[in-house]
Amino acid sequence: MYRPVTPEIIEALCRIAGPDNVLARPERAEEMERYAHDEVPGLSAEPEVVVRATSAAQVAEVFRLAQREHVPVTPRGAGYGLSGGAVPLCGGIVLTLEKMNNILEIDRDNLMVTVEPGVITGDIHRAVEAVGLFYPPDPASLDSCSIGGNVAECAGGPRAVKYGVTKDYVCGLEAVLPSGEIINLGGKLVKDVTGYNLTQLLIGSEGTLAVVTKIILRLVPLPKVQVDLLVPFDDFQAAAATVAAVIANRILPTAIEFMEQDSLLAVERLLEKELPFRDAKAYLLIQLDGNSPDAVDADYETVGQICLEHGARDVLVAKDKRTRDRLWEARRKIIDALKHESPVNHMEDVVVPRARIPQALAGIKEIAARHGVRIICFGHAGDGNVHVNVLKDDMPLSEWEPLVPQVAQEVYRLTLSLGGMLTGEHGIGATRRDYLPLALDAAQIEVMRGIKAVFDPQGILNPGKIFPVT
Ligand SMILES: Cc1cc2nc3c(=O)[nH]c(=O)nc-3n(C[C@H](O)[C@H](O)[C@H](O)COP(=O)(O)OP(=O)(O)OC[C@H]3O[C@@H](n4cnc5c(N)ncnc54)[C@H](O)[C@@H]3O)c2cc1C
Repeated sequence: MYRPVTPEIIEALCRIAGPDNVLARPERAEEMERYAHDEVPGLSAEPEVVVRATSAAQVAEVFRLAQREHVPVTPRGAGYGLSGGAVPLCGGIVLTLEKMNNILEIDRDNLMVTVEPGVITGDIHRAVEAVGLFYPPDPASLDSCSIGGNVAECAGGPRAVKYGVTKDYVCGLEAVLPSGEIINLGGKLVKDVTGYNLTQLLIGSEGTLAVVTKIILRLVPLPKVQVDLLVPFDDFQAAAATVAAVIANRILPTAIEFMEQDSLLAVERLLEKELPFRDAKAYLLIQLDGNSPDAVDADYETVGQICLEHGARDVLVAKDKRTRDRLWEARRKIIDALKHESPVNHMEDVVVPRARIPQALAGIKEIAARHGVRIICFGHAGDGNVHVNVLKDDMPLSEWEPLVPQVAQEVYRLTLSLGGMLTGEHGIGATRRDYLPLALDAAQIEVMRGIKAVFDPQGILNPGKIFPVT
């Protein structure tokens, strides 16, 4: 269906982006390796050529060439995705935005920051916090992933409970359409209803509609006080029930993360450090913030009390930055630790109405027991988003391979029966596209396909993501 990348195309790409920014075999084969995969274990496909763009104009020229030659283009940020979105399933060009990594402006009068897509998300946090401002979305991968990838996936993170996700902060975008046209959407505007909201349409579109080359983000004042609570439970279900109880009590913590014992023990082994309450069966990591120390203290007293009433063994209060960082380091390392534990594994990212978390977790445990496989759950319980990690451990591959789609489908059916959805923040990408019809009806999928065809009539942009290649 697509044409191969020829030496002439590579020469043309070198003229567009400069030879240093074009990686092709055989000379640059080693450098190309990392562009064949993201963070999904076992999924890879080799690009025929990698282009490191340094401007929107270059992205536009790459698209015009790709249209003429009918070669697929796969956009890429930092390659930390968890749905195979940046994997070039059909070969062709990987177009990486990693070199467009400048914070262009922090506008303190309008409370906005303008960035290029390759900026690492944690760098935005540090830059705006240095001037007393706050960009809340905080994917656990924040020191590795790029803001362009966050926009493309509508990334969330622990603080979504109180502050929302990436879509709640993007006010403007510059993007390049597959035709090579550069469009500017929105701006430094808190309100804007001028026509269809194309800004929001691009957010979460997983690099299938356009390539984002500039982003304007809304900021909020940096909260003055932050407190974290680590709450151990001897009973897995009691921890799950506490999440719903805290929310029902009309206190909105900044974050409520749920972790099973096995996930923290895996982190201990990875970091070679002992963590507090290591013999508990499950933990909640709860963050509260605000501007008045008294108000935050009152909230954490109430939350602590609710936890104790629901069977918490204790409540560890971390007010100083060092202890808080230690707790969050452990939380952020869980995915790496589980990979270390079982390099072959499978991760789901289901989301349910938050009051249904106890039923979701109980159902997942039942699926694990029935199939005799280790499933470890953790995640952003405060917003109903559970990461479900199925570990191969020492199961023979011949059993593992047919088991994964079976377990995935059962987890999806359970989630959907609870009013949930397939993915809360990691996206459909390549890994979940075959399951889309389980969650969305045919009419919705048809509208989505129609939108894709308007943006990308030739189907050259990120084929095989969200929908199978046709
Ligand atoms: C350890 C770990 C923890 C994680 N924790 C979280 C978490 O808490 N919350 C969360 O939401 N996610 C999390 N993730 C998933 C991942 O980090 C996010 O999806 C992130 O947004 C990916 O950004 P990236 O720059 O790595 O994107 P990539 O993997 O490079 O790309 C992701 C998708 O975005 C597209 N894309 C990238 N840049 C652009 C662009 N400029 N224009 C158009 N399309 C583009 C790609 O084509 C692809 O489809 C985690 C991942 C890991 C490995």
